[in-house]
Parts: sequence; structure tokens; C-alpha cells
Amino acid sequence: MKTNNVEYTTFSGWVDAPGDVRSPLNQDVTCEVAVVGGGLAGMSTALRLAERGQDVVLLEAEFCGHGSASRNAGQLAGAPGGDIQFLNLLYPKKFPGIVRFAENSAHFVEHLIERLGIDCDYEATGNVCAAVSRGQMGRVRRVTKILQKAGAKVELGTSAELGIPRGFLGGFRESVGGMMNPGKFSLGIRRAVLASSARVFERTRVTDITRGGGHVTIKTSGGEVRANKLVLATNAFGGELSITPKRLSVPIWVTEVETEPIDPARLAALGWTSRSGVVTQHNFMENYRLTPRNTIVFGVRRIQRGKSYPLPLRKPDEAVVADLARGFETRFPALADVAAARAWGGWIGITTSWLPLAGNIDDNVFYSVACNGHGLAQAPYLGSLIADHIVDGGEKHEDLKALWMKKPKFGRPVMMGAPGLRTIWAVDRFNDLINGSRRNARRGAAPVN
Ligand SMILES: Cc1cc2nc3c(=O)[nH]c(=O)nc-3n(C[C@H](O)[C@H](O)[C@H](O)COP(=O)(O)OP(=O)(O)OC[C@H]3O[C@@H](n4cnc5c(N)ncnc54)[C@H](O)[C@@H]3O)c2cc1C
Repeated sequence: MKTNNVEYTTFSGWVDAPGDVRSPLNQDVTCEVAVVGGGLAGMSTALRLAERGQDVVLLEAEFCGHGSASRNAGQLAGAPGGDIQFLNLLYPKKFPGIVRFAENSAHFVEHLIERLGIDCDYEATGNVCAAVSRGQMGRVRRVTKILQKAGAKVELGTSAELGIPRGFLGGFRESVGGMMNPGKFSLGIRRAVLASSARVFERTRVTDITRGGGHVTIKTSGGEVRANKLVLATNAFGGELSITPKRLSVPIWVTEVETEPIDPARLAALGWTSRSGVVTQHNFMENYRLTPRNTIVFGVRRIQRGKSYPLPLRKPDEAVVADLARGFETRFPALADVAAARAWGGWIGITTSWLPLAGNIDDNVFYSVACNGHGLAQAPYLGSLIADHIVDGGEKHEDLKALWMKKPKFGRPVMMGAPGLRTIWAVDRFNDLINGSRRNARRGAAPVN
């Protein structure tokens, strides 16, 4: 795969930035509920609060949808993220609730798209967790059993049965969910929030938050917001504000690449008849999906830890794009001559438990992180559940109860430093090498060194 003409962007490959960015806050205001962060979680919270008659202010540092909301791969997952075997082992009581939350999240987003009339090229194809080796196929079988036992709608199959390319051996399909253009989706929610009664201030970075006298004071360079309640929806950026519970989320940089348009006949020859998005069973998954513009978007595989706050506005590293291109060639040897056209990336928030979570600090500050690479479905749903929790005087939906933290205390991240991440990446590549050698040996070719 050629990577010499890649367009590197600091925003997203899916859409352009909106032309109607709202004015920053330039005076002091008061409100019932303030929401900090205009991503999927924050916009969904503000929209729901406004729809339920609350006086709400939304503050966003850039423009709503500027974060991972518009940058993700657009794969709407119907099952939880993270290492399922590990989560089931460590949190056996919580796990069925997390599975139900994940599935309801995907349904919620499908209804939201319909209700708001958002044109985001949504296709209800489901997604396939695919194996690239016999070892991964064993893992797929074990994970399928665990998910089915917890009530998830997943089915096991070979690549032919699942309608995915033959570069994958097989896998399980999450039948709930699908794929979309996430940039169009997030700008669609943005339009709905701007049209609602919520007061939205963009280009308004919150610099500090203090509490006292039963209210919250939110500082920005243009003015202060005094609110009775606050919702923190800052995802990976949470550590920039001292009010955020320590270690709520670990910031990780994730990269996506899009190919040049591919001849439809060549795409048809792949046997990707289901059009389902695909994620592999590596420790750091690879994701692959078709787009309506006859391209393939692919990414992750090599992730990078945010070193310090504030997190920089950045482009992907050329070395990471080259590594992703090597992965693409391995999975799609017939498309090895296709060029990578553009690359972008974003900051995702990983929780140290790898579970989506929500909670409160005292009784007037609420937080949530529903990311772990699966927030396209989960963040909007969780945002809406938190809004209902606030309006309903502390009542919690069953799905919110499943994630609720009694105390805002979070463990230390394990293996998430730069050396740990490099080691995990190297283990994945070593396994790929062994599997490549075995494949070549089976074909009678010389093993790859
Ligand atoms: C490359 C990539 C691929 C991904 N692929 C998928 C996928 O296929 N499927 C999936 O389910 N998930 C995927 N994800 C994850 C998903 O995009 C996120 O989980 C989801 O967008 C999280 O939404 P959010 O609202 O929590 O965060 P964000 O969208 O990141 O929003 C946080 C917002 O807070 C604002 N903010 C932060 N600090 C401040 C401050 N001090 N003042 C004001 N505003 C502030 C930021 O500007 C930002 O707009 C991917 C993510 C990336 C980056």
C-alpha cells in the first residue's frame, strides 16, 4: 500500500468543520444545569435536558463534535468493548448489565438518528469480531459463549457465512448496530442542540470549576457560568480540570486511515457481502469498514498514550500510518496496490477498569466515561440517561444503575504507559508473524522471516 501521498489532518476525514460555529461566552450567566464538553455525551445530555424543559448551558472548547465524536470509525457496536474474557472474569456480577447497556446503546442511537432525521449514511449491518488466526478463532468461540450467556445477540460463523473478506477466518457477528458516517451523525446532533432551548457556547474552554454554597462556578476566559448542577462530559480531556476525579480516564491517541476510491468490481471480489464492519481479536484491535464512497476506512492497531495535559491538537504519526498500511496489505493482499488517501486521529478516554461508568461528586456534579473505543453508541445513550437522572430527582434507569460508581475512586492504569503499549503491540506483531509463517507453510511457500 502506498503511503507517500497521504493527506494528514488535525480534524476528521469524514466531514468538514461546521461553518456556523457559535460565539464564545462573553459575559457571566446563570443556569440550572451546565454541561462541559460538546461531544456525543455532552450534546446528548444537553439535548435531553432541553427537551425535558431544563434551563441548560453547554460549553465546548472548539465546536460541538470536534473531539472523537466526529473522528471515529463509525462502527456502531451492540456489545461491550475491551477484553470480554477479562471483564467477565473480573466483574461477573456487573457483566450482564454492561452487555444489556451496550445493546440498548446501539438501539438508542438508531432511534436518535430516526427521530432527529439525521442523514449519516447509517447501514444496520451489525459488526463482526473477526479472527485472523486459529488462536484468535479459539478466542472468538470463548467470547461468543460468554456474550451469549450474558444475553447478547451474537452468532458465530466462518467468513463465508458472515459475508466478510476471506482474509479473516471467521468470527462472531453482533447483529445489533452497524456503521455510519460519524462526522455527519455528530454534526446532526449538533444541529438539534443548536435548535433546542439549550444555550450553546462554542470556542469556550472551561479553565476551572469550583463548588460552594450549593452551586458550581465554571470559569472561562470570557465569563463565568453559575449553575446548580454540572455534568462533566470531557472524555479523554477530563484530566485538564482539577475537579475531575483522579484517573477517571486515560487519554489514548487512536489513528484511522482511508484508502483512495477502489474499483467497485475489486471490492465485490472481496466477498464482503454483509458489508458488516470488522474488528480483529488482537490485543489492540484492527478495524476495517466499507464506506459509501467505495473506500475502506481502517485503523487502531497501534495506540499512543497522551503524555501530559493539555492534550495537543495533532496529526497522526507517519510511522503509525505505515504500520496500519502493513496490516491492510496482510488482510487484503488483493488490494496491496491501493493507496492510502488520508489519515486522522483522535483522543479516546480509556477507563482503568475498561468499563463504561458514571457517578457523582457530592450531589450536584455528575461525570461519565463511556468510551473505551465504543462510545459512538454508548456516549449518547449514557448522556441521555444522566439527563433523565437529573430531571427525575435522582431516579436511575436500570442501565444507569449497571454503571453507577458508589465513589469516584479509580485504580491505577495497568500496562498503559508507552513501554507497556509498545510491548502489547509487539506481541500482536509477533503473533501475526507466526501465523503468517504457518499460513505460508500450509500453502507450501517459504516461511516469512
Ligand atoms: C480514531 C477513533 C476511532 C474510533 N472508532 C470508534 C468506533 O468505530 N466505534 C465506537 O463506538 N467508538 C469509536 N471511537 C470512540 C468514540 O468516538 C468515543 O467513545 C466517543 O466519541 C466519545 O464521545 P464523548 O462525547 O465522550 O467524547 P468527545 O467526542 O471526545 O467529546 C469531548 C468534548 O469535550 C470538549 N472539551 C474537553 N475539555 C473541555 C474544556 N475544558 N472546556 C470545554 N470543552 C472541553 C472537547 O473539545 C470535545 O469536543 C473511536 C475514537 C477515535 C478517536
